[in-house]
Amino acid sequence: MNLENIKKVDSDVAKAIEAEYERQQNTIELIASENITSSAVMEACGSVLTNKYAEGKPHKRFYNGCECIDVIEELAQKRACELFHMDHANVQPHSGAQANMAVFMYCLKPGDHVMGMDLSNGGHLSHGSPVNFSGMYFDVKSYGVDENGNIDYENVRKIALEHKPKLIVCGASNYSKIIDFKKFREIADEVGALLLADIAHIAGLVAAGLHPSPAPYCDFVTTTTHKSLRGPRGGIIMCKEEHAAGIDKAVFPGMQGGPLEHIIAGKAVALLEASKPEFKEYAAQIIKNAKALAQGLMDEGMDIVGGMTENHLMTLDLRKTGKTGKDMANVLERVGITANKNTVPNDPQSPFVTSGIRLGTPAVTTRGFKEEDMIEVAKIIASAIYASDNELGLQNLKERSLKLCKKHPIER
Ligand SMILES: *Cc1c(COP(=O)(O)O)cnc(C)c1O
Repeated sequence: MNLENIKKVDSDVAKAIEAEYERQQNTIELIASENITSSAVMEACGSVLTNKYAEGKPHKRFYNGCECIDVIEELAQKRACELFHMDHANVQPHSGAQANMAVFMYCLKPGDHVMGMDLSNGGHLSHGSPVNFSGMYFDVKSYGVDENGNIDYENVRKIALEHKPKLIVCGASNYSKIIDFKKFREIADEVGALLLADIAHIAGLVAAGLHPSPAPYCDFVTTTTHKSLRGPRGGIIMCKEEHAAGIDKAVFPGMQGGPLEHIIAGKAVALLEASKPEFKEYAAQIIKNAKALAQGLMDEGMDIVGGMTENHLMTLDLRKTGKTGKDMANVLERVGITANKNTVPNDPQSPFVTSGIRLGTPAVTTRGFKEEDMIEVAKIIASAIYASDNELGLQNLKERSLKLCKKHPIER
């Protein structure tokens, strides 16, 4: 990480970046939506491409001088299509939420009927939450999970038959089981709805062939690029050819101005990295690590929503410990582990307090953690929760976390 120039120009920002680097280096990152991108991706994102305006699409720009940008954006598009087996890719969305917004804008008029997974059941804000544009401008009926944390497909079908949505959104931010895209397609077909799969969380697993692909079943696939896919912060929309022109129009001029071409270069690099055999190994290790963490926690007597995870994440259910997600996420922070509070199915606590903690393994797997390390992490988590009032005990656990971080430094 080269901060030579920032140090000269702005020592305040330089200091804060250095402090953040130290924080990442010395904490165990279990936030399921985070990762550690490669130096190659970061170089692309920090390049001269940030200087260029390139409104429009490759070879159809509103500004001159886009011939080099076009090469980059076309590479990103081609790599996204090949990796996820879709006809068309728009790599310009600034984020995952904006990718979803563009699909909504293309498919729907204000007031149209939509279905998505409920936020407190693991869905995303942009799938129809009342505080998000998706819930404000459309008539949304949400579906959820059963007590075991599984999507209740029969209930999804029932709601679809009643609500007659024009668009069904599947995909989640906190769901530890395989998503059955084929079942969603059958339900969508039964009511004549379009189907959007938002694979923001599982994109890396899908790319590696370790989660079934939505491509054969979905009209649109949106993703973030910064979660398990391990690229820069951003979004991508993929779709069938028949929707390509409409989706492109919704992104620009519908919703965004100039694309972030430096980030698009980062996406191109990340997509290439994700097509390599090493990435398949990485994605397989993410799942092995998640299973080892879940088993380790259960061996320590803790509950996991839905039992064993099938992907990269899980929700620790704290109900029987009498402690809250909010308090325990803070306790974990004190022992050098970063994670976020999360609701569990039928949570007796408010969404701000919660009875759960979401844990994911993409970031620690990037730094080289293996199963035996995850078992140690499980022991640290369980001990911290059981002994959350014991100052000395927490200090000791923090040392154990630090030891794991030193064993697997972030390469830079
Ligand atoms: C993270 C996430 C998003 C949003 O991504 P941002 O880049 O934060 O806007 C959208 N959908 C799902 C399912 C997500 O998990």
